[in-house]
Amino acid sequence: MSLSATIKTPLVTYEQPLGLFINNEFVKGVEGKTFETINPTDEKPIVAVHEGTEKDIDIAVKAARTAFEGAWHDVTPSQRSRLLIKLAELFERDLDILAAIEVLDNGKSITMAKSDVQNAASCIRYYGGWADKIHGQTIDTNNQTLSYTRHEAIGVCGQIIPWNFPILMWSWKIGPAIAAGNTVVLKSAEQTPLSALYAAKLIAEAGFPPGVINIISGFGRTAGAALSSHMDVDKIAFTGSTLVGRTILQAAAKSNLKKVTLELGGKSPNIVFDDADIDNAISWANFGIFYNHGQCCCAGSRVLVQEGIYDKFVARFRERAAKNQLGNPFEESTFQGPQVSQLQFDRIMEYIDHGKNEGATVALGGERHGDVGYFIQPTIFTDMKISQEEIFGPVIVVQKFKDEAEAIKIGNSTAYGLAAGVHTSNVNTAIRVSNALKAGTVWINNYNLISYQAPFGGYKTSGLGRELGSYALENYTQVKTVHYRLGDALF
Ligand code: ADP
Repeated sequence: MSLSATIKTPLVTYEQPLGLFINNEFVKGVEGKTFETINPTDEKPIVAVHEGTEKDIDIAVKAARTAFEGAWHDVTPSQRSRLLIKLAELFERDLDILAAIEVLDNGKSITMAKSDVQNAASCIRYYGGWADKIHGQTIDTNNQTLSYTRHEAIGVCGQIIPWNFPILMWSWKIGPAIAAGNTVVLKSAEQTPLSALYAAKLIAEAGFPPGVINIISGFGRTAGAALSSHMDVDKIAFTGSTLVGRTILQAAAKSNLKKVTLELGGKSPNIVFDDADIDNAISWANFGIFYNHGQCCCAGSRVLVQEGIYDKFVARFRERAAKNQLGNPFEESTFQGPQVSQLQFDRIMEYIDHGKNEGATVALGGERHGDVGYFIQPTIFTDMKISQEEIFGPVIVVQKFKDEAEAIKIGNSTAYGLAAGVHTSNVNTAIRVSNALKAGTVWINNYNLISYQAPFGGYKTSGLGRELGSYALENYTQVKTVHYRLGDALF
């Protein structure tokens, strides 16, 4: 099978790389395997890509090690900065291509895909800005000693990303790792390998030395497992399910105790008080769950509404969500496209059937949309037993609460702690409740707004460490303390 293919989309026709990207070249996998990626809108294969397995991971790790100890070591922080900024510019130049790939491979709407690519470019540029501003401290220990710290790169970083934001997760991972001077082997999600490979082409064009960033298409149990248990990978960063996150942590512990950061699942509460601006709260509740078809780890999948406005809220939320436009994700007016895969579609429909069988009220949706593509109607349940499981689809449960104490109690009653929302016009309520919620991000009178400048990550089983902002650099540096003895006084 060849190493590239011409792909036609309604927006652009472009050349898609298909190989594994190692040492700045696209190559076939050692075992010669390939796998197809499916268009979730029409359920047909788009193209087959080369599959990386354990041996390819090993080759890529060797390439990343050689670069780390060699050519990359001599690249100065300001040169790293220029390379990242150049890469960001190439993302912007090819924004239409990258966005079209996301729509084709993932099913997200074109408007959101364009915003993902722009955010990815901005994130890479932001870390380009950091590359020459990472430094340690001098510490005044005593007059005979010069003590200082160096914030050094960790080494070879394995990165495993999910399918819900393929190009955005690519940028969240690669930006800080490269800014801090590491080298990378990134495994994309098997459902959405295409944008990661197109972006790999831009790495070579930007002028990164060979081996600094390597991109492998492949499956979790083979390529992903090989990366997380590799003895020469110094750090692993993972975004995905809590279930797999535990496996990654175990693999790290069993192998070389590589450093681990995890960004995992959620079951986030979006709390609406009686005194909230109801139109604003409904609009953010809608965006909080139905944005990206519910396929966000931080989705506000539980809306808790105070009893005084509950009935009004449910009636108006139904009306609002019913207006979300489902359909061809290449249409500018589409808000919701298909779920990413047959497997995800089936999982979500199972949760919906389970809710119905348990006697929950379906206030809206609850069915497949159309008969081709993995489309699911926006679904609102009321009177449902609170489920602990992350559905990862366009399904929301609305629940009633009495007072602030009960809202906090219900809000915190899951094993997750990724995000939460609070809607109120009372500043004191907003601050008290946001302080009491056990979540890594709290949105007040909005939801799902994420900035590459501010940290993102989870409490409890939602993760370890923080991505984005200056905080992410801590994941990719290790601190060395140096004590330099002045003079010749002996102890
Ligand atoms: P989802 O269930 O939404 O597909 P996963 O957590 O299974 O989410 O997948 C997220 C990423 O983790 C993907 O790149 C996938 O290939 C990878 N992955 C899955 N299983 C493993 C594993 N056992 N070891 C390492 N990576 C894995």
